Amino acid sequence: TFKALVASKSGDGVSAGVVDFDENDLMPGDVTVAVEYSTVNYKDGLALGGKSGIIQKYPLIAGIDLSGTVEASTCPGIEVGDRVVANSWGLSQTHHGGYAQKARLSGDWLVKIPAPLSTKDAMAIGTAGYTAMLCILALEHGGIAPDRGDILVTGANGGVGSIAVALLSDLGYRVVASTGRLEESDYLRELGAAEVIDRRTLSEPGKPVAGERWAGAVDSVGSHTLANVLAQTGYRGVVTACGLAQGLDLPGSVLPFILRNVTLAGIDSVNAPQAVRVEAWSRLARDLDLGKLARTTRMIGLADVPEVAAQILEGKVQGRTVVDVNA
Ligand code: NAP
Repeated sequence: TFKALVASKSGDGVSAGVVDFDENDLMPGDVTVAVEYSTVNYKDGLALGGKSGIIQKYPLIAGIDLSGTVEASTCPGIEVGDRVVANSWGLSQTHHGGYAQKARLSGDWLVKIPAPLSTKDAMAIGTAGYTAMLCILALEHGGIAPDRGDILVTGANGGVGSIAVALLSDLGYRVVASTGRLEESDYLRELGAAEVIDRRTLSEPGKPVAGERWAGAVDSVGSHTLANVLAQTGYRGVVTACGLAQGLDLPGSVLPFILRNVTLAGIDSVNAPQAVRVEAWSRLARDLDLGKLARTTRMIGLADVPEVAAQILEGKVQGRTVVDVNA
């Protein structure tokens, strides 16, 4: 047996607890991973909150992310001893996830962790950081470069936001960080924000188009914030939408698209093709300052996950939380 955090249905909600899990009860897969680390993303909060329908069968080991070392493999290209990361796919939805000391899953879900990243770095990055990189790839794809102007990052104290600020500033962009936690401005400036703004300036209903402030944006917030960001984006700018921390509505107009040629780029990490994942992880290995990554990260054990998962939904978690599954 090994330790696992199992989510079970309880009434309207979900209860989760650490149990001794029998390896024979793992689901089929051509690779077995000795898991070292997992993490707590917003989606893990939603899953353990039980309201969102993320977990589709119970009982299930929760956790959408994992990193570790391959223990057994019949998957071509994946060898025993490989250091691997898995983000999303069916983890914590239809397949046992990362909050466990062991995982059996499809080798097609794995990416080999590129040097110099460790298995711990991979979970300090996690789905949140890999999604931040997907946003940056989309900005680049849309022709955005540092000389085009400021890039706005919303939800800047969150996981996606913190990693986006760090990455963009190291890539030479002037980054403006929007947050509801102005008291954490020093943290955001250390990560590379040139300017910190109050998220309330973006979160109320605004004009369909407004003064052009941004060359591009990484938005993990949605709702009025995303509508206002679009309205303030300059000619041929690119806004990447990856999240819904404020809400899943998009109460805006088409004017930014038809007057300013603004692009709204959708970002999905869950079913991103393998080639995109490999590119994102190799760019993270190249572009992310590991000192800054460490500054965003704190470490917890498996038993602490339910509490942090509840806190992340309340917007109370800063940066990234790594779960040491063997602690
Ligand atoms: P997180 O760490 O909780 O970050 C979210 C941040 O949003 C919070 O820290 C907070 O930042 C801000 N926020 C929270 N409530 C808000 C509100 N009512 N209005 C405005 N801002 C608010 O979560 P995360 O793991 O980074 O994920 C961020 C979002 O991206 C989530 O919605 C998640 O579901 C989504 N996501 C999507 C994908 C994908 O594949 N599309 C992948 C990863 C994440 P401040 O305190 O700085 O204001």
